Amino acid sequence: MIGTATGPGKRRRPRTCAGCGGEFRRTELLRIVRSPDGEIVVDPTGRAPGRGVYLCRKRSCLELARKRKQLSRSLRSQVPDEIFVSISALLDEIADRSVPEGNGHER
Ligand SMILES: [Zn+2]
Repeated sequence: MIGTATGPGKRRRPRTCAGCGGEFRRTELLRIVRSPDGEIVVDPTGRAPGRGVYLCRKRSCLELARKRKQLSRSLRSQVPDEIFVSISALLDEIADRSVPEGNGHER
């Protein structure tokens, strides 16, 4: 049902999680951005300028991306530990807000 892509930018990049590699909607992902001044920040709105990398909201993906240094690689910059800490805190917040039933029990 989608019409023909117009214009030169037809290679649309899906947003993939840096952990599991799955494709998600933007709203399902957390974005981490290297701002134009080279600062690494967590960008929950997905609107900050700069080079971004995405993670879905799974702690396992965060850990995986951290272990593989996937974020540092994608952003071409060292991602400080505190970023992982804030992402982790954000995941907690999101989980608090949106888990309808106690299902956060994997493992
Ligand atoms: Zn993932």
